[in-house]
Amino acid sequence: MTGIITVVGAGFSGLTTAYFLIKRGCKVRVVEKSSRVGGLIETIQTEYGMVEKAANGILSSAKLEAIADDVGVPLITTRHEGRKRFIYRGKPRQLPLNMFEMFKTGARMATHATSLSPRPFESNSEWGKRVGGGAATDYLLAPALGGIYAGDPDRLSASLIFGKATLPDHLRSNKPEKGKLHGTVAPPKGMQQLTDGLRAWLESAGVDFVFNTDSVDIGANDPIAICLSANAAADYLREAAPAISDALSAIEMLALVTVTAFYREDAATLNGFGCLFPRDQGFRARGVLFNNSIFEGRGPAHSETWIFGGALDPDIIELGDDHFHELIAAERERFYGKRDESLALYVNRRPSAIPHYTIELERSLTNLPAPPPNIVVVGNYLGRIGLAKLIERAAVVAEHFRNSP
Ligand SMILES: Cc1cc2nc3c(=O)[nH]c(=O)nc-3n(C[C@H](O)[C@H](O)[C@H](O)COP(=O)(O)OP(=O)(O)OC[C@H]3O[C@@H](n4cnc5c(N)ncnc54)[C@H](O)[C@@H]3O)c2cc1C
Repeated sequence: MTGIITVVGAGFSGLTTAYFLIKRGCKVRVVEKSSRVGGLIETIQTEYGMVEKAANGILSSAKLEAIADDVGVPLITTRHEGRKRFIYRGKPRQLPLNMFEMFKTGARMATHATSLSPRPFESNSEWGKRVGGGAATDYLLAPALGGIYAGDPDRLSASLIFGKATLPDHLRSNKPEKGKLHGTVAPPKGMQQLTDGLRAWLESAGVDFVFNTDSVDIGANDPIAICLSANAAADYLREAAPAISDALSAIEMLALVTVTAFYREDAATLNGFGCLFPRDQGFRARGVLFNNSIFEGRGPAHSETWIFGGALDPDIIELGDDHFHELIAAERERFYGKRDESLALYVNRRPSAIPHYTIELERSLTNLPAPPPNIVVVGNYLGRIGLAKLIERAAVVAEHFRNSP
């Protein structure tokens, strides 16, 4: 393709799409509504340590490592102690099922060995109960997925979440190939180091960034990559692709509040990645991340990020900062059996944080019409929320343009 390709949105999707387009020899400009790159990803450096406003890490893959190498941003792996993950059942446990429940779950899975995969339009709860039973669903599956997808287990689509949904070819993505690093990684100065690194690399490769702009003059057949949230993409596509626009505007978005709290070094702590809270355990938080255990250099103070909201608690977004002070103090006291005064609390409210991965979304994506050939879409509503998957999708759409006449 010889003309200039417009990438709309300079979040992680837009930056990585622009990166792959440049790698494939295309000319690119990036148009961004705000005055900065990164979209949801933003790292604040405070006197107590780092605050991540969205992603705190990314699953490592060969493509991520190649990008980080190119843009000159190092990646660090999680600390050894940060590999332990907990689910609360009476207390934080690495294995929240008792021997009897484990035996029952194992027996049930063996019985369903030939039909373990989620069925089309099967909810998470239905799938979990069918193949693993009630305890495995309530104390493993629901909290684990609640921590990532923040959805209603009775409405979450198991096939969509486990990558088994039959999506049309124009929404294709690839499975990330393993890199040299394992598990979750992040730049030492936080996730924004990567998005800032991508911006600098793209600018040095001749990419023009147009900030504070949400509409640009684009010819009817000019190539364009729409790298926005579902609802913003729906607005963008209203004229060019009304059927897609209608489908995307119906995607439900979930509200999330993340609160990063800092404490003195002698505050109560647990070594691990974090802990998830099943619904019946009496916590309002969906989970907590133990930031200092996950990556080196997150201090100097002890730091935790508490995650609230999602489909089953949308009203939390209305709580004032003082309420979060009290709420976290109470939840920590139950969790650790000890009260600590926080040094500082950073409350980050996102009314439309992530798409709800419901059965309706699975239905909508399964039937999504293909956009006109000059338009591609990249975003976290197309099958996976995580950044590693956004990279794969960005690589696929860059290939689409390279192969277009
Ligand atoms: C609290 C939280 C924690 C998370 N944790 C993780 C994690 O640990 N690991 C992980 O892999 N993922 C995580 N995620 C998911 C991940 O952060 C997101 O899926 C990803 O950042 C989305 O990037 P994006 O570029 O698709 O969208 P966005 O980040 O929303 O970027 C879209 C961009 O488009 C711009 N824009 C909007 N409208 C227009 C317009 N009309 N014209 C031009 N520009 C426009 C916006 O200003 C924005 O910059 C988390 C998400 C949240 C909310």
